[in-house]
Amino acid sequence: AEEFLRRSDKISAVAQLASGIAHEIRNPLAALKWSVQLIQADNADSKQQVELMISEIDRIDSIVSEFMLLSKPEKSHGLQLGQHEIKPILESVANLMRYQANRTRVNLELEVRAPLNPVTCDPNQLKQVFINLVKNAIEAMPDGGRLLISAVPGKDEQSVVIRVSDEGMGIPHELLPKVGEPFYTTKDKGTGLGLMVCHQIIESHHGRMSIDSELNVGTTIEVELPAVAQTAIGHEQSV
Ligand code: ADP
Ligand code: MG
Repeated sequence: AEEFLRRSDKISAVAQLASGIAHEIRNPLAALKWSVQLIQADNADSKQQVELMISEIDRIDSIVSEFMLLSKPEKSHGLQLGQHEIKPILESVANLMRYQANRTRVNLELEVRAPLNPVTCDPNQLKQVFINLVKNAIEAMPDGGRLLISAVPGKDEQSVVIRVSDEGMGIPHELLPKVGEPFYTTKDKGTGLGLMVCHQIIESHHGRMSIDSELNVGTTIEVELPAVAQTAIGHEQSV
């Protein structure tokens, strides 16, 4: 399994990020300007140009949205940590994403092994993480397949391990280190920001994230979050 962004230079380079954003936004802006100029010169099918413009605007919008997520935990009241059960968080993600999954005949399943200790987390931030991971899994299976979200206790029940597995195209071994780098994407409409945002959020929860993938077999993303040991009731030894 490849540990995400182990090399500190990958994420520490704020400057690299900033120039990346500038670059990523400049491309759709240039396309927008070109379309406007064509329309201004009365030189184009304006309906078609407007459609192109909308898709470029959508692109800028999705880049900016992902960056807003990234900056959220930094705000003073951004990260709302508390003790929460992981099960309802995963259920809500599964319910949210099931429609999108079914559209491409992806069968989304959830398996939560009880009992699990609650984790210290901001549920809304965690939902964003799992929405991103489920989205990637769906996108990896354009012809359908099985998508499993599972949660099991980690070592000594001091953590909870959540896995998002798909039967998709997988990632070539030599490209694994690239995955999670800002703007690395293999998709036409991708931003290459989803996994970086996930990693950032998991780090702010003192968790860890790793990836395991086999080409043409599938991919599993594993997230481990610290859990709060329960005392007394509910955890006695059974005899
Ligand atoms: P995006 O989804 O916008 O491309 P991400 O950061 O979410 O950006 O993912 C980066 C890249 O990692 C993807 O473009 C894809 O190549 C690869 N990837 C991520 N998740 C998966 C997966 N479940 N299966 C195959 N490839 C994946
Ligand atoms: Mg993605």
